[in-house]
Amino acid sequence: MAWIAFLSYNDPDTGLQKELEVPATLTVCPKCKGEGVSDPAAFDGGFTQSEFFECFEEPEDRMDYFNGVYQVTCTDCDGENVVPCIDERVFLQQDPNGKCLDPRGSILLSLWEKHIHYTTTYERV
Ligand SMILES: [Zn+2]
Repeated sequence: MAWIAFLSYNDPDTGLQKELEVPATLTVCPKCKGEGVSDPAAFDGGFTQSEFFECFEEPEDRMDYFNGVYQVTCTDCDGENVVPCIDERVFLQQDPNGKCLDPRGSILLSLWEKHIHYTTTYERV
């Protein structure tokens, strides 16, 4: 099983730096679709037709583009083709009464959701 570390803290008992982790499964990287390479960040958002012909004036340049000459190692998976994706099934394991089997799971999920909210809200700036 893969894990995603998302929050560092000092353990008050040992004084050591520890990390909170959530269980994850490896899934095909959505950015490169498992290819391990993607267009450079400068190409994000794609091109209009006129922008494309402006950037790749020569037919050879356009062929190079379509042959992947400008592609770089995928920044999301670092060329690994897969990325860890949180496995929420672990948090959803419940007893027949709908009670979470591991009470730490709901706390961890709550912290994870706050982490995702924080990073998606403030990393875009
Ligand atoms: Zn990738």
